[in-house]
Amino acid sequence: MTFKLPVLPYEMNALEPYISAKTLEFHYGKHHQTYVDNLNKLIQGTEFANMPLEDIVKKSYGKPEYAGIFNNAAQVWNHTFFWNSMSPQGGHEPQGELKDKINKKFGSYEKFKEEFKTAATTQFGSGWAWLVEDEKGELQVIKTSNADTPIAHNFKPIITCDVWEHAYYLDYQNRRADFVSAFLDHLVKY
Ligand code: MN
Repeated sequence: MTFKLPVLPYEMNALEPYISAKTLEFHYGKHHQTYVDNLNKLIQGTEFANMPLEDIVKKSYGKPEYAGIFNNAAQVWNHTFFWNSMSPQGGHEPQGELKDKINKKFGSYEKFKEEFKTAATTQFGSGWAWLVEDEKGELQVIKTSNADTPIAHNFKPIITCDVWEHAYYLDYQNRRADFVSAFLDHLVKY
């Protein structure tokens, strides 16, 4: 199977002024594309060659001999999920069942946002902040390092924010907290 860069669900400039077209040109057009290209090269002629992406992530996880395959497969998956966690019309509290679950777990949407922001800003180095459902269907805010991804741990991701420096440095330099606030207040889509 040859993987392709998925179509971005909005125009490159659609998330401005919170994420610039310049950032998306590099982040989506270069970083995400490179993970796709590397993955296609690495799986050639291996047992992973004909697997769906999620299976590659799960079956290469935790195996040092497949670290390169895991890192690139998980980054392909994580980035696609991240683009779909945002919308130019985003930044609103979810409705319905998810709203109820958030209120029950965190007390309020504001408290959830604080916990998510803490996870995103305390992830030391590169990684991701997530809202997930665990195996019991309970919501959790978690952070993962580098390419690590909740789908390797049997969690069901609901939203994610990329906190690698390449996600925000052109627009926010070292101000990761401002980027995460912009994500939560203006972009996040459930
Ligand atoms: Mn990224």
